Amino acid sequence: MPAIQYSPGVRHDLEEILLTETQIQRRLDELGKEMERDYAGRDLTMIAVLTGSVLFAADLLRRLPLQVRLDCLGISSYHGQTRSSGEVTVTKSLHLDVRDREVLVVDDILDTGLTLVRIREMLGKLGPRSLKFAVFLEKEVPHHENFRADYVAFRIPNKFVVGYGLDYLERYRNLPYVGTLKPSVYESHGSAL
Ligand code: 5GP
Ligand code: MG
Repeated sequence: MPAIQYSPGVRHDLEEILLTETQIQRRLDELGKEMERDYAGRDLTMIAVLTGSVLFAADLLRRLPLQVRLDCLGISSYHGQTRSSGEVTVTKSLHLDVRDREVLVVDDILDTGLTLVRIREMLGKLGPRSLKFAVFLEKEVPHHENFRADYVAFRIPNKFVVGYGLDYLERYRNLPYVGTLKPSVYESHGSAL
C-alpha cells in the first residue's frame, strides 16, 4: 500500500519530528513482549484513556496474544489549551466491571501526573486485583506525588508535542509520528505557549 500523503498543511505545521513512525513501532514491539511476559497466563483489562491514547492502545492491543478486555475512560484535563488546567473531569465512565481484575491503564502522556493520580484514586476504589499504568510518553519534568508509570514507551524533553494520538485543538492526532509545532501555528490561534 502506498504511504499516506498528508496535505502539505499538516506536515508543514511541524517544526521538528521527535519520534518517527519506525521508532515508535519498534519500541512497541519491545513493550508488547514485556507485557506479554508480565501478564502471561492472566486475563487483562485494558483501559484506554480517551482520546489521546487511542493509537497507542490500538497498536499495543494487536501485539498482546492474551485474553484482553478493552474499555475506555473519558477524561478531560486540558480543555483545548496547552497548559494543564489542574482539574480533571470524567466525560465517559467505564462500562466493564474491574473488581478483582488485572487492570492496565493506557494513556498518551505523563506530564504533571495529575490526570493519572486522579485515575489511580478512582480505579483503586473499584477493587482491581492489580492496577498498572502504561504511558506512551513521559516528559522529563518532576511528576505529581512521585507518580511512576509501570511502562513508558519514550521519555521526551519538556516540549508540547502532537501526533500519534496527541492533539493541539483536537488536530494532528492522526499523524503516525510525534513532533513539535511551529510557533506560527500557535500564533495563528492566538494561544500563548
Ligand atoms: P498531566 O495530568 O500529566 O499534566 O497531563 C496529562 C494530559 O495532558 C495528557 O493526557 C494530555 O492530554 C495532555 N498533555 C500533556 N502534555 C502534552 C503535550 O505535550 N501535548 C499534548 N498534545 N497534550 C499534552
Ligand atoms: Mg489525556
